[in-house]
Amino acid sequence: MELAANLERQRRRVGAACAAVGRDPGEVTIVVVTKTFPASDVVHLAGLGVADVGENRDQEAAAKAVEVTAAGIDVRWHFVGQVQRNKAKSVVRYAEVVHSVDSTALAQALARAADRFRERPLDVLVQVSIDGDPARGGAPVGGSDPSRDALAVAAECAAHPSHLRLRGVMAVAPTTWPADRAFGLLASVAARIRAAHPAADWVSAGMSGDLEAAVAAGATHVRLGAAILGNRTPPAVA
Ligand SMILES: *Cc1c(COP(=O)(O)O)cnc(C)c1O
Repeated sequence: MELAANLERQRRRVGAACAAVGRDPGEVTIVVVTKTFPASDVVHLAGLGVADVGENRDQEAAAKAVEVTAAGIDVRWHFVGQVQRNKAKSVVRYAEVVHSVDSTALAQALARAADRFRERPLDVLVQVSIDGDPARGGAPVGGSDPSRDALAVAAECAAHPSHLRLRGVMAVAPTTWPADRAFGLLASVAARIRAAHPAADWVSAGMSGDLEAAVAAGATHVRLGAAILGNRTPPAVA
């Protein structure tokens, strides 16, 4: 089966990327990003030992989580896309990890929603903007808006310990940057956040095209979609 072969190839690829820089592959979790693919693929992946899956749209993810649970399958859902604040109430119900907290207001909304709808704290990562371009989401370091500063967002997450557990940082490398430079910058932001919040030691970085550079720069989570599931059909324009 193609999924099994693709998954095996990517596990070996992560292993080789770790070996190349003297890291233990056990330090790197593959999050399989299943957006646009059906719940049946998640069920199949779970049967191949995948425990962590990623989604980027609430409506799609919520429905898929219901289907997967109904099939008797338990996976950890990672939300990796931009979260609209009015979706926080939904996201906290199925997600165990939100990788994309990029404003103090979103941190507060997630904390409030987690208080109402969860029994255990939600794991959160601060999405760092590498180049300061707001289009892809992410909080820059410094910049003019203090409510979107990465260090301030981290502090806000850490201020709600009963509801949010600050685990680290996430970034998407800008396509116009060399990946090693982007992930090097992310590593320096991660170190600054860890200095203030020692438990925040996750670095979610690396996708199908750039996981080697991310692993070299210390990624603990790589988010792989196309390399495992194949190319996504672009959604039809409504
Ligand atoms: C879609 C997506 C991925 C996976 O990207 P691939 O290039 O398919 O591996 C990773 N991270 C985020 C935030 C995504 O939206």
